Amino acid sequence: MNLRKNRGPFYSLLRGWRQARQAAFLLLLLAAMLLGLSACSAIQQAADETLPASEGGGQHNLRVIFLDVGQGASQLVIAPSGKTMLIDAGNNDKEQLMLDYLHAYGITKLDVVVGTHPDADHIGGLDKVIDQTDIGSIYLPKASSNTKTFESLLTSIKGKGLKVNTAKAGVTLDLGAGITVKMVAPVKNYEDSNDRSAVVKIGYGDTSFLLTGDAESPSEKDMLASGADLSADVLLVGHHGSKSSTSLSFLKAVHPRYAIIQVGKDNKYGHPTQTILNRLKKQGIQVYRNDLQGTIEVDSDGTKLNIQTER
Ligand SMILES: [Zn+2]
Repeated sequence: MNLRKNRGPFYSLLRGWRQARQAAFLLLLLAAMLLGLSACSAIQQAADETLPASEGGGQHNLRVIFLDVGQGASQLVIAPSGKTMLIDAGNNDKEQLMLDYLHAYGITKLDVVVGTHPDADHIGGLDKVIDQTDIGSIYLPKASSNTKTFESLLTSIKGKGLKVNTAKAGVTLDLGAGITVKMVAPVKNYEDSNDRSAVVKIGYGDTSFLLTGDAESPSEKDMLASGADLSADVLLVGHHGSKSSTSLSFLKAVHPRYAIIQVGKDNKYGHPTQTILNRLKKQGIQVYRNDLQGTIEVDSDGTKLNIQTER
C-alpha cells in the first residue's frame, strides 16, 4: 500500500510527461504540415513563374513542327507569345503544300524566316511563302548561288521590300518573352554549301531544340570549338541523316533525347544512312522520321515535351 502511495506522484509525473510529449508531437506534426503546405505552394509558384503570362489557356506551349515536305526540310515554330518562325520551306514543287500548311496552322504572319542555305530542298518553297505571307525579317547565310531557285528567292525578297540579314553564329532572334533563339552556326565561311547552314538553338524553360539544316562535320567541329552550349533535348539530325553529319563528338555534345530526321520515302540519296541510325540507337536516342510518321510536332510547356505524329 505504502509502496503504491509512494509510486502515486511518480505515475502522475509520468502521465504528465506523456501528455506533454503527445502535445509536443502534435505541435511538431502541425508545424511539419504547415511547412509542407508552404513548400508545395512555393513549388507551384516557381512552376507558374517559368511560364510567361498569357490571356488564354493552352497558350503557354512552344510548338516546333517538323513539316513533312518529302525529301527536304522545313520547321515551323510557334512561340508561346504567338510569334512565329519558319526555317526552310522544302523543294520547289512544295510551294503550294507550304502555303496549305501555313493556312492549316492559322499563320498569316511569319515574324522570322530563315533560309538555312541555298540548296533547293530547303529554300525551294520559300519564294512563294514570302510572296503570299506577311514577313517580319529574313535571314540567309552569306552565300552566292546562281541557281534559278536562289534567284527567285532573292526576287521575292526584293519584291516585298525586305532586307536580307546575315545568318551566322551569335545572331539572336526575338520570338517573344520566355524563349531564347540563337544561331550557333555558321561559325565561319565555308566552300561547301551545306556547311554554311544556319544552325538555330531554341530554349524554352528547361527544354531546348537544335535545328541543324545540312551542316556537316567541319561545321560541327567549329560549333564544338566555339564553346557554344549545343546541348538540346531535341535534335534535327543534320543533312537528312547523311553520314557526313552527326559526328559522334557532336552528337555527344548535343546529347538529345529525341532525334528528328526530315526525309522523303525512298529518296535517291539513301537518307537516312544506316551508320547514323545505328549511332543514334547506340546513344539511346528515340528517332522520329517524316517518311515514316508524316509531320512531327514537338510541344514544350517549358518542362515537359509532348510529341505528336501525323501517322
Ligand atoms: Zn538538304
